[in-house]
Amino acid sequence: MNSACSSDVIIAEGAIKQLNSILEGYQRPLIVSDVMIFDKYGPTIEELVDADVVWSISPNYTKGMISRYPGVDIILGFGGGKSIDLAKLFAKEGNLEWISIPTAASHDGISSDVASVMHNSYRYSQKCKQSKVILADLDIISTAPRILTLSGIGDIISKTSSLAEWRLANEHAGENLDESIYETVNNSLEAVLEDNSLEILVRSIIDTGNAMTCFGSSRPCSGTEHAISHAMDRRMQSLHGLQVAFATPLSLYFLEQVGYSKYNAHKIHSFLKDHEMPATLQDLDMTESILLDDIHHALEIMDKRGRYSVLKHCNASDEDIRSALRDIGY
Ligand SMILES: [Zn+2]
Repeated sequence: MNSACSSDVIIAEGAIKQLNSILEGYQRPLIVSDVMIFDKYGPTIEELVDADVVWSISPNYTKGMISRYPGVDIILGFGGGKSIDLAKLFAKEGNLEWISIPTAASHDGISSDVASVMHNSYRYSQKCKQSKVILADLDIISTAPRILTLSGIGDIISKTSSLAEWRLANEHAGENLDESIYETVNNSLEAVLEDNSLEILVRSIIDTGNAMTCFGSSRPCSGTEHAISHAMDRRMQSLHGLQVAFATPLSLYFLEQVGYSKYNAHKIHSFLKDHEMPATLQDLDMTESILLDDIHHALEIMDKRGRYSVLKHCNASDEDIRSALRDIGY
């Protein structure tokens, strides 16, 4: 991938040991983390790093907050998506470099330049800058709760529909498509479908995050299934990867009808069930009407972003969507 838009990526067991050399030349790194990670790894980091480390533990973020940490010269996001998103925001505000140290492979935000910010119980995306380094220690990531890994698999599975819809949107609505970015994301998807080892998942998640940065928008990795998940955020806060995976078979169902999907909606739905990911309305404590409302909202989100939805392409009525949901087995 184009190195101008990709971070340096280190994926290895014990990768954290390289942190001191990565931080060479910096005097005062600020590490954004959470209590659990700090308790578990704080002493190790303090021992590893020679510089004057400052910690920001689960900060209640407000705009301009970086000014509370004078003299800080680089930001590290060490933890799950939340800590990494906050690190992105701090780096943007302070115009500083930042390093991503994910403790779970839960979604492709660990490597993208976009932070997901909650505002008025609604999640929106804030463009930040690309990280200088992504340091993925497989020993650390392997201790993450299984559910976070499943979320990461879910975010990759959603590429079955985001890629197909991107192609459709390119051919029918003139949306920009880059073949090499398409290939990168598709390779990540195929790699995870073939081999569910942690190392492959981490690599794929990082590659898809970088692909979005290189393309300059989330379009390659985010279609109607992501918009539905964003609409669902209004009422629930399940894991991103699980929500987008949940909505993926529905998008695929319509993409298949117009000949754009390589993947079968029923098969991907079974994949979710086999991996004990939420796959039915009951699993997410929803009704058909609530989901329909989310889908309507999702279509507004797609419109607002100037993105062409497969549901719009198929002119899908509520009745079409209801019957698709029943046919797939939601
Ligand atoms: Zn995603």
